[in-house]
Amino acid sequence: MSKCVIIVGAGLAGCLLAVYLARAGWDVDLRERRGDPRDRGHVAGRSINLAISARGLKALRRAGLEDVILRDAIRMPGRMIHSRAGALAFQNYSSDPTHAIQSVSRSALNLALLNAAAAESRVTMKFHQRCVHLDAARGSVSFIDDNTAQESSASADLIVGSDGAYSALRGIMQKNEGFDYGQSWLSHGYKEMCIPAVTSGKHAPFAMEPKALHIWPRGGSMMIALPNPDGSFTCTLFWPNKSTAINPNGFDSIRDPVTAREHFQREYPDALAIMPTFDNDFATNPVGAMLTIRCQPWSMHGRAVLLGDAAHAIVPFFGQGANASFEDCESLTDALEAHPDDIPRALAAYEHDRKRNADAIAEMALTNFVEMRDKTGLRSFRIRKKFEHLLHDVAPRLYTPRYDMVSFSTIPYADALARSRNQDRVLALLALALAIVIVILAAFVAWRVMR
Ligand SMILES: Cc1cc2nc3c(=O)[nH]c(=O)nc-3n(C[C@H](O)[C@H](O)[C@H](O)COP(=O)(O)OP(=O)(O)OC[C@H]3O[C@@H](n4cnc5c(N)ncnc54)[C@H](O)[C@@H]3O)c2cc1C
Repeated sequence: MSKCVIIVGAGLAGCLLAVYLARAGWDVDLRERRGDPRDRGHVAGRSINLAISARGLKALRRAGLEDVILRDAIRMPGRMIHSRAGALAFQNYSSDPTHAIQSVSRSALNLALLNAAAAESRVTMKFHQRCVHLDAARGSVSFIDDNTAQESSASADLIVGSDGAYSALRGIMQKNEGFDYGQSWLSHGYKEMCIPAVTSGKHAPFAMEPKALHIWPRGGSMMIALPNPDGSFTCTLFWPNKSTAINPNGFDSIRDPVTAREHFQREYPDALAIMPTFDNDFATNPVGAMLTIRCQPWSMHGRAVLLGDAAHAIVPFFGQGANASFEDCESLTDALEAHPDDIPRALAAYEHDRKRNADAIAEMALTNFVEMRDKTGLRSFRIRKKFEHLLHDVAPRLYTPRYDMVSFSTIPYADALARSRNQDRVLALLALALAIVIVILAAFVAWRVMR
């Protein structure tokens, strides 16, 4: 008899897992709090995108979806740095020109995954179903239908909480003894803005170079922009929530479009010139919060388990949250296939595989924020990156830049972190040795001249 799984949350990870498990012979009951996005169509509304890289693409390939997603994706082989004066500097992400991260529409990706899940005969989907209760020991979970206010319960061999960073399932698990939970909010918030498509110009329909992730690094804050297939760019401001003496331009002091315009005129004048909907975007788009969540254990009573952002929400600065969540889906499916008659053991194997990697990418994502906002605009940073790429070309076995390992390989995140730390230490020692040699040579030359 086939086993049954209830997946709570039909977001990016929940839908992909539904496809995998249905194909592995599970009956899948997929429940989602929101309405069915197929009723609305994904083209309506603002374009919001995200960057998918090697890990996400591998997971999509396994579901047969890579080509569909890549068809409308935009390659971003590097970052385009914008100075205050509007000068542009392109930096490759990798020394390998075939390497690029891909800008994809978030809603189109979710819709493609949802359609793939719906095409599986073993998957049933219910919308407007808000998870409110979990009895992990019995394998049962309760929902409220937000249309009818009716409560219902369902039970299964396995319950997966893929209900995002503010997971209801995790909230319930948290009340149990032995469940460790930590969240840390970033002191910065984010606000999305738009650069619309244009009808003329060098890059039309794009108002700027489309094949790049654009960054306006301003030290302590920044704006980024990713291209959309319709020619527009989704910009995201990352500003402090509260202004300080060091960083006076926070969301609390720049609240209205007039003040924001003045600030943009000083900090991002080239972008402001191509943002005709600036006032409305600034006034109406909300400021979002970003947080890192670490919790343990991810499973309870061998019947309920967390996956994706529900298990490990991270800040978005390495563009890896969805990529990591897709890797979770692969890992959980593999573990369940490796232990077909022992779900608790499979859940333990999945957590053992993923927890250390989730912790590693959480840390690297925080570090990357500092790199993006404070360092990418510096000449020394550009020189260092060129040197790293050169080193990788000359000795790829000895040196692989962290960005390459995270975005263009599927080396486990924890190994990428450990390896990049070792490499940094070796580089620092090499720089020290070089400095000592230079000082000795200079002293020797001075001694010869004076003799
Ligand atoms: C500004 C920003 C930019 C980002 N950029 C990138 C990027 O470039 N690349 C990248 O890889 N990642 C990025 N991410 C991270 C990425 O969005 C997440 O990691 C990813 O969406 C996680 O997928 P998920 O399925 O776990 O959660 P979600 O996609 O959040 O899905 C959770 C689902 O659960 C549903 N749900 C919630 N509560 C309940 C409930 N009680 N009952 C039933 N259903 C419920 C929700 O409606 C939703 O559909 C970014 C995140 C942010 C905030």
